[in-house]
Amino acid sequence: MSGSLHCGIVLDMKKIIVLMGGQGVGKGTFARMLCETHPFKHIETGALLRESAKTNTKIADIMARGELVPEEDLLSLVSENINTDQDIILDGFPRTTEQAKWLVNNYADKADIHVIYLDVPEETMIQRIQKRIREGGGRADDANIDTIKRRLNIFWTVTIPAINWLKNVPNIKFSDVDVKGDVNDNITMIIKALEDK
Ligand code: ADP
Repeated sequence: MSGSLHCGIVLDMKKIIVLMGGQGVGKGTFARMLCETHPFKHIETGALLRESAKTNTKIADIMARGELVPEEDLLSLVSENINTDQDIILDGFPRTTEQAKWLVNNYADKADIHVIYLDVPEETMIQRIQKRIREGGGRADDANIDTIKRRLNIFWTVTIPAINWLKNVPNIKFSDVDVKGDVNDNITMIIKALEDK
């Protein structure tokens, strides 16, 4: 972890671990496993939005169509939840280059940001979404094949450019972790990537 010198005292910067990857890749599972190793605050934008959607039909409709919720809603939701007094895992944010720039502009000087790109081919994402459906997740946006295809298309066309932008930001850490395999091997590789940098 990096430190900063302030009035002669070395202050440790808190960490923001950013889990990025396509649909069904396991961001939530890996975030929960990391939370068992360390007291992170887990900020999962999909779960927070599903909660908002219970009383906000505009957000519920957008999510049911598999589209992205508008930037202003996301940025206020994340601002309300992020607090650099503790280590954080971001799961589901950022997903656009605008969100990535907002994160870097507002937090790169306050926290040690490490982006973990959970890298799998699309066929693995589809298999994992199908598994989630079989296990009875009951999510409205998993129930329709067109909605799943729309979300995957947004991942490749909108989120991959955001990941590529983040990869080239000099003052943040970036690791590309191949998580096609077994969940226990994957979490071991993720922890190694976090420790190595
Ligand atoms: P998945 O990654 O499988 O699509 P999530 O639970 O992460 O599932 O997100 C569900 C939905 O919540 C998305 O399809 C989108 O409508 C909305 N959402 C979540 N995070 C964001 C974000 N960062 N920006 C815009 N919309 C978001």
